[in-house]
Amino acid sequence: MEYRRLGKTGYNVSIIGFGGIPIQQNTQEEADLLIKTCISQGINFIDTARGYTVSEELIGNALKKMNAKDIYIATKTMGRTYEAAKKDFEISYKNLGRETIDLYQFHNIAKIEDYNTVMGENGAMKFFKEMQKKGYIREIGLSSHSADLMNIALDSGEFSTMQFPINAVESQGFPLIEKAKKFDIGTIAMKPIAGGVLMNHGKESLKYILENKNLDVAIPGMWSLDEVMTNTSIGNNFIPLSDEEKAELLEEAKSLGTDFCRRCNYCQPCRVGINISQMFTLDLYKTKYNLVDWAEARYDTEKVKADECIKCGDCESRCPYHLPIINKLEGVSERFEGAR
Ligand code: SF4
Ligand code: SF4
Repeated sequence: MEYRRLGKTGYNVSIIGFGGIPIQQNTQEEADLLIKTCISQGINFIDTARGYTVSEELIGNALKKMNAKDIYIATKTMGRTYEAAKKDFEISYKNLGRETIDLYQFHNIAKIEDYNTVMGENGAMKFFKEMQKKGYIREIGLSSHSADLMNIALDSGEFSTMQFPINAVESQGFPLIEKAKKFDIGTIAMKPIAGGVLMNHGKESLKYILENKNLDVAIPGMWSLDEVMTNTSIGNNFIPLSDEEKAELLEEAKSLGTDFCRRCNYCQPCRVGINISQMFTLDLYKTKYNLVDWAEARYDTEKVKADECIKCGDCESRCPYHLPIINKLEGVSERFEGAR
């Protein structure tokens, strides 16, 4: 496995890290095997979040059983105030069962108002710093989908790492990691295969971003052993993309445009219970990847379907990509239900 220094943290991290969103669907037994396999393949950086339901717990339990050492654990809080961050931290700390959390991050700071709250007098940063002083947190980082916000955070000098979506479709992260390198801030790529939508070129997308030495670690979400083996094989035997592979990847990326769902689920919960990202995923499989029967069969099993949207708009205000969800759901409904 290739390792890179994660900026000023000094951590020597595997270029393929573990993204902790999909593990939520695993049992503890499956999670144990998954984490064990990741570590045996050289992964030493695991990223999770308080917001990923049982992810921290599954990972924490797996690591405890293995008595795994020299593994860097990163988690995050959506808490913006001192009290909210404290509440989250106490749960994360218990879930992960470690003496110190290697990297504690502000999760998905989207607006300047949130950033100002975090950095303000009774903000979450005050709590982070107290915990850091006491040795419960080693390093402080943040994640965001906003390039403007990330620029402000990089300039502040307050953070050891930045986490941003970087993949073949989303190129706005490249100037950010270049800037971060100048400040010796560690760089973490979330959504390295664009939330899984670069289905035909997942490996190529990982290679594409990791060829850029300003990036320290990519954290694809993984829940199956196959995914672990495929992704870690890249870090274990890094072969740069050929010109042909690169051209094909960029062609697929171009065909997706920017108006696609990254399956981050920040839009949830939906008032009527629509699984929004699932709707868009099934639509993509049906229309772009031609998995018509499979997608329609899966759509039929969804309890609440796209046409049940009451257009309240709650989800749209939460989507970091500002997707026109209501409009897009109408399209899904037409393609799945209108065709019957
Ligand atoms: S606009 Fe539709 S999809 Fe979005 S939260 Fe409201 S009901 Fe759910
Ligand atoms: S609609 Fe937006 S918030 Fe919801 S999963 Fe897709 S990208 Fe994320």
